[in-house]
Amino acid sequence: ASVARADRALVLLAAMRVTLHEHEDELGRIDAIAGDGDHGVGMRRGIDAALDAATAARDSGLSTVLRAAGEGWSEIAGGTSGALWGAALTSLAPALDRDDVSVAHVAAAARAALDTVVRLGRATVGDKTMVDALVPYVERLEAAAAAGLPLVDALAAAAADATAAARATSELRPALGRARPLAERSLGHPDAGATSLALVLTAVTQTAIT
Ligand code: ADP
Ligand code: MG
Ligand code: MG
Repeated sequence: ASVARADRALVLLAAMRVTLHEHEDELGRIDAIAGDGDHGVGMRRGIDAALDAATAARDSGLSTVLRAAGEGWSEIAGGTSGALWGAALTSLAPALDRDDVSVAHVAAAARAALDTVVRLGRATVGDKTMVDALVPYVERLEAAAAAGLPLVDALAAAAADATAAARATSELRPALGRARPLAERSLGHPDAGATSLALVLTAVTQTAIT
């Protein structure tokens, strides 16, 4: 069963890879408005390395696969987001390494990723980072678990909230990271890291429910 779970993770990583390749240029353009423009390249390099490392570890079970993916990502991707994504991927494992993954388990995994990102990056809601999309995602999953929603509905609702929240970062001025000195230029444009996170969550949802 552990190997089957690892294979499910590979399928989801492959879906992430497709969307991050598709949107590489767009993410770079968004990051270039007030940042250094490398977010698309970083995410593409990160997911490629993560999928390669995960594939090499596929027979070792989900926890090892996710740790390999996270380590591969942060080693190769670079940038603030590379370190955060790598650690976040690794942090998903305890909640998901089981046969019967419920909404509550997915919510716990997402909460662990959020805790990891906040512990390392110290961003809070409104700082115009990926945290602005991740918090509503986690909260919607937790509410869905409490309400007893089916997994497919919970994932779809949470991804929709993350997407709306990523768009809404357009109205914010960045308070952290490379974009902070160019805060005024960033107004009217969404945060690159929130945008890529919403794309990934949407792709993962579509893959998980089909
Ligand atoms: P870099 O800024 O180092 O070039 P990227 O361009 O890959 O790295 O990623 C930029 C994104 O990282 C931002 O759009 C933002 O979403 C996210 N980010 C930056 N700093 C933080 C932080 N302290 N906590 C959470 N996310 C952050
Ligand atoms: Mg950048
Ligand atoms: Mg950079």
